[in-house]
Amino acid sequence: MAETKKIAVIAGDGIGPEVVAEAIKVIRKTEEVFGYKFEFEHGLFGGIAIDERGTPLPDDTLQLCKNADAVLLGAVGGPKWDNNPKELRPETGLLGIRKALGLFSNLRPAFVFDCLIEASTIKEEVLRGTDLIVVRELTGGIYFGEKFRREGPNGQEAVDTCVYSVPEVERIARQAFEIAMKRGKRLASVDKANVLESSRLWRETVIRIAADYPEVELEHVLVDNCAMQLLRRPTSFDVIVTENMFGDILSDEAAMLTGSIGMLSSASMGEGSFGLYEPVHGSAPDIAGQGIANPIATILSVALMFRLTFGYEDAASAIEAAVKSVLDAGHRTGDIAVDKSKAIGTVAMGDLIAAAIAK
Ligand code: NAD
Repeated sequence: MAETKKIAVIAGDGIGPEVVAEAIKVIRKTEEVFGYKFEFEHGLFGGIAIDERGTPLPDDTLQLCKNADAVLLGAVGGPKWDNNPKELRPETGLLGIRKALGLFSNLRPAFVFDCLIEASTIKEEVLRGTDLIVVRELTGGIYFGEKFRREGPNGQEAVDTCVYSVPEVERIARQAFEIAMKRGKRLASVDKANVLESSRLWRETVIRIAADYPEVELEHVLVDNCAMQLLRRPTSFDVIVTENMFGDILSDEAAMLTGSIGMLSSASMGEGSFGLYEPVHGSAPDIAGQGIANPIATILSVALMFRLTFGYEDAASAIEAAVKSVLDAGHRTGDIAVDKSKAIGTVAMGDLIAAAIAK
């Protein structure tokens, strides 16, 4: 019998609880079909935690996450808390939890469902077969370097510094190689080594780590070229690894190849196999409580959790196949429906996907 895995569930605000409920339904179905065992512990986080506990990230929620094998997060935030002081804002909790859990990379897969291909702004023949993942370094680089203003010869100047240490690059490179080993064994390391010293260190370090992964085919792509190639030949990429700011931009570009925000999953990883999994979208206050949110981004985040944290490739593939079969059968939530009058709700979509999970 499979070992019981602990999942910390923090549903959050707005549509968070609605989409998370459908993800749990899908996880329960994988227990039936594959014999895996999961234990859920629920924690308060975000706006709801501010209301009930006076802080976006209560200590017991953080402890619950630390004791778990993985975290499933809905979304946080909403207009109710927008004007709060910084320490009482849901986003502060989001930064806090990432830091406290040591999550140093953000992973965003981008793959195309053939039945939704027409919804993309990119030509079908370019897009068909796209299946890539962007691994973005999350805690270093220019966003975290020293920043200041000073008086220069021509008046005021602003300075942002980009710093990367060898260990920071090593750990993200190793993670990317490990992910490549579980996928197509191709890794594109993206930098600007023709101009930036931090990129030259990045490249040297990635090359050194590559020696431990002889099966992975490594290419180095300059960031400006990568931005072009993502639009020209997205199918040629398998895993892309890059530093914080380049990854911020490229992961949004890659995500938009495939369309709706309601479909996009993500993972934030620390050392080892621990990870926090969440949809890319926010709490969507405009549709919260109406039962119309698309749960697929959260359900696909569970597939990522199964693959990256638990190594349950069979169940991960079964979830992705179930989503595909439900979409192929023509079922759509409002955000991805062409004929909105035929759209189905959150619970109905979750029910259909759970029912379609099979060995
Ligand atoms: P959003 O992603 O919540 O919504 C943008 C648009 O997409 C809205 O029209 C919404 O209805 C739609 N949408 C989003 N998810 C959907 C889904 N699953 N199904 C159908 N439609 C969906 O972004 P926003 O409106 O800019 O932000 C709303 C709140 O969420 C803000 O408070 C923001 O700070 C927060 N937010 C949280 C996270 C997070 O928790 N990680 C991420 C982004 C935004």
